[in-house]
Amino acid sequence: MSSPKTLRSPEALAGAGLVAPEAVAALERVAAQYAVAITPAMIALVDPSDPDDPIARQFVPATDELVALPEESGDPVGDFTHSPVEGIVHRYADRVLLKPTHTCAVYCRFCFRREMVGPEGLGMLGPEGLDAAFGYIAGHPEIWEVIVTGGDPLVLSPRRLGDLVARLSKIEHVKVIRFHTRVPAVDPQAVTDELVAALKSPTQAVYVALHANHARELTPAARAACAKIVEAGIPMLGQTVLLKGVNDTPEALSALMRAFVETRIKPYYLHHGDLAPGTSHLRTSLSEGQDLMRAIRGRVSGLCQPTYVLDTPGGHGKGPVGPNYVSQDGLSVEDPDGVVWAYPPRGEV
Ligand code: SF4
Repeated sequence: MSSPKTLRSPEALAGAGLVAPEAVAALERVAAQYAVAITPAMIALVDPSDPDDPIARQFVPATDELVALPEESGDPVGDFTHSPVEGIVHRYADRVLLKPTHTCAVYCRFCFRREMVGPEGLGMLGPEGLDAAFGYIAGHPEIWEVIVTGGDPLVLSPRRLGDLVARLSKIEHVKVIRFHTRVPAVDPQAVTDELVAALKSPTQAVYVALHANHARELTPAARAACAKIVEAGIPMLGQTVLLKGVNDTPEALSALMRAFVETRIKPYYLHHGDLAPGTSHLRTSLSEGQDLMRAIRGRVSGLCQPTYVLDTPGGHGKGPVGPNYVSQDGLSVEDPDGVVWAYPPRGEV
């Protein structure tokens, strides 16, 4: 029997029972616009009998994606506005994004860079592009942190990743290297000892931020892959996109945050869904997001609390979007049960 493969077309998805054969023609139109890939590890998690399966919602294309709203944009967080050289985004003074590749192990249906990633996307930085990107970082002493993203940088070979870390390690003012990836969850077998060794820097602190959106993604194999990274001395952070029908209930979000912490991953950001084209069916409102944050604040440990953030459309940066527990005049505070108390207390407490 041949080993399972990543599925990359509606036809292949139909062959695996993940979409109905009669839906293939319509989904080809989606696939012509936005790349499709779902790894064996994620296929194994999908319950094909559940029409609302939270794993399928993230990776299996839907015709809803053909509906683009006027407020949606191909560059919702303003990468191009802040790109001084190819492969670099310099939005905040002390850090840059370095995007060595626009390939990913999976293609998420809500991706905020969906018009840049995939086989038809912006591709890989060639040797000259990489030289220019490293030259830019070396020439800007205010850059303290380099966030290696994409695409998914962990699809690169250990040799390429090792070269990248070695080159960044030579730039003295860079103190922190952070990788953003879905690979440890969506393709845990790819996290080999060689790959983990390639991520380590002799001089800089390295972090790995894992993007996962549902507790089921943290399988025993994914947890083992993350353990390799953590036990190599690389702290891990959790990043999640708030998605309708995936993690927009207190139960689903709590379970995911706990799964992160059990895996020694500190939840970092809960991202409000970006205004990427054809993703409105997966977005919640900001007030729904705030209600969820309130619900998990009272429900799970402080270790399990991410910061809920919105990337302000147009490239104006990321900011926390609440909820707020302090009144505008600063004279009362809300407890996790929603009860408001005077601060400082007046009379009996
Ligand atoms: S792995 Fe990240 S960059 Fe790639 S499709 Fe998913 S969200 Fe987009």
